[in-house]
Amino acid sequence: HTDPSTANEVTGMLILTQALKRVGIDTMYGLVGIPVTEFAYIAQGEGIKFVGFRHEQQAGMAAATHGFLTKTPGVLLTVSSLGFLNGLTATANATVNCYPMIQISGSSEREPIDLMQGTYEGLDQLNIAKPLVKAAYRINRPEDIMTGVVRAYRAAVSGRPGGVYLDVTTPCLGAVMDRKAAEATLYTPVDLCPAVVPSPQSVARAMELLAGAKKPVILLGKGAAYAQVDDKIRKFVEATGVPFYQMSMAKGLLPDNHELSVNSMRSYFMEQADVVMLIGARLNWLLSRGHGKWNPDGKFIQIDIDPEEIDINRAIAAPVVGDIESSIDAMLAALPSYKMSMDSDWVPSLQSASKAKNAKFAERFVPQTVPMTHWSALSAVRKVFASNPDVVLVNEGANTLDDTRNAIDMMLPRHRIDCATWAIMGMGMGSAIGAAVASGKSVVAIEGDSAFGFSGMDFSTICRFNLPVTVVIFNNGGIYNGVGENLSKDGDPAPTTLNINARYDKLGEAFGAKTYYVTTPADLATALSESIASKKPCLIDVQLAADSGKESGHIGYLNPAALISVK
Ligand code: ADP
Ligand code: MG
Repeated sequence: HTDPSTANEVTGMLILTQALKRVGIDTMYGLVGIPVTEFAYIAQGEGIKFVGFRHEQQAGMAAATHGFLTKTPGVLLTVSSLGFLNGLTATANATVNCYPMIQISGSSEREPIDLMQGTYEGLDQLNIAKPLVKAAYRINRPEDIMTGVVRAYRAAVSGRPGGVYLDVTTPCLGAVMDRKAAEATLYTPVDLCPAVVPSPQSVARAMELLAGAKKPVILLGKGAAYAQVDDKIRKFVEATGVPFYQMSMAKGLLPDNHELSVNSMRSYFMEQADVVMLIGARLNWLLSRGHGKWNPDGKFIQIDIDPEEIDINRAIAAPVVGDIESSIDAMLAALPSYKMSMDSDWVPSLQSASKAKNAKFAERFVPQTVPMTHWSALSAVRKVFASNPDVVLVNEGANTLDDTRNAIDMMLPRHRIDCATWAIMGMGMGSAIGAAVASGKSVVAIEGDSAFGFSGMDFSTICRFNLPVTVVIFNNGGIYNGVGENLSKDGDPAPTTLNINARYDKLGEAFGAKTYYVTTPADLATALSESIASKKPCLIDVQLAADSGKESGHIGYLNPAALISVK
């Protein structure tokens, strides 16, 4: 791999590299092959970190997590056809979650694709990507590369962030251009993510409603965490004295043990609150789309950058359309002219009920059970997290997700990455890698055994890049649990059954990680503490009881039921 350019000529691949550097991209996640291998070499040679994966979907999950944590687009590089499609899954997921990312994919030359003549990895990628992403562009000529990169960047980060697809054809990557002419196409764009300032009327309307509320609650979503204005949000919450609830990935924006946190009182305040202020949180299925338990007479304030998010499920009495920083700034400035009129017993009653509920909840953490249940394993994990608050927690599974989320308080913003809006599985290794690379912090991924299966091979990527990531696998031998009833006429395993005796630690060993197989909470605590302290790739196989966990965890109600119970 020699220098891609001569004194007088450069290739599209070098121009693409330089264009990415002009917008500040310093990291790419991906998996190479025809036609992007040389491009990855060139980018790496020019100082862009390239994290090579075993599966494009995981590289995409890493890019998406990178985007969420840095407020700049994470970049995924894929090959044509299947690599593109594998990666597109993650780009679609990023779009749904409002994470900024750009999937750059090589694609075949246009002419045989457009005439459907059957060419190497021929697929009309741009048109396939379009309905699943925020924006999609194709670059056919090297002189258009800078424009394509800038447009992709702006689409990914500005307004509501999302996934962007950037198609770069093989001829464009290989095209040769005069060096001076190529340099003349490059520029450094200005104000890549412009502020969106809310109208003063919308701010006044919202402040009036909030100040007049008797039983208000503030609901913080991952949009609020993404905004990186933690101190301002904290100031607003504390100045108003309004209790707050944090959605899963907003946990830790304010410490979960803050005196105004009502994280365990969700049903109660849904029924009771008269004014709910949503900050970067959607009133989607995760919040019963604004119905169900919600007080039918309650009123909503919603701060969101996307005007089309307003009124999607329920009337929003006071929409504030703007970016969260500009919106909170405006509200903080307005605050002195308003007087809160909360019922004097609203906060104290929530606090005492919350305290009682948390104490009752803590009774679940019985450390002595062997074989372990999710709760006994978590009794160990939560202690280790309490003494390592700066570790980023990646979490997926069914019961492993629900129980870990409830068991582990987050103390710092953007330290929890999970399967988010779609509640999907298969984000674990990629997100852990993206989190480690983007934050430079230690990461612990707590995975159900089923969840780990979707991305397990990319544990090897953690090892090759020697990242400070510990993967903890809660093995209960199945999807939901390992005791699925066997209805097969041939004695096949039940659809939900995996392998309760699988030794995932041996898989970790294959790639040179430090591994542990633990059967008791005490050994789990030791293994996890050691692993975090080592700042090296580690894998802990946690042996659970096969009957620990229930179908679909907390969302079993979404499962269509059989007429006759199969279990
Ligand atoms: P959660 O799942 O935590 O409730 P969602 O992903 O459903 O969070 O909602 C996040 C919301 O935040 C989205 O509607 C998105 O438009 C909004 N958002 C994202 N970034 C910003 C920002 N910088 N300013 C304002 N709103 C934002
Ligand atoms: Mg399982």
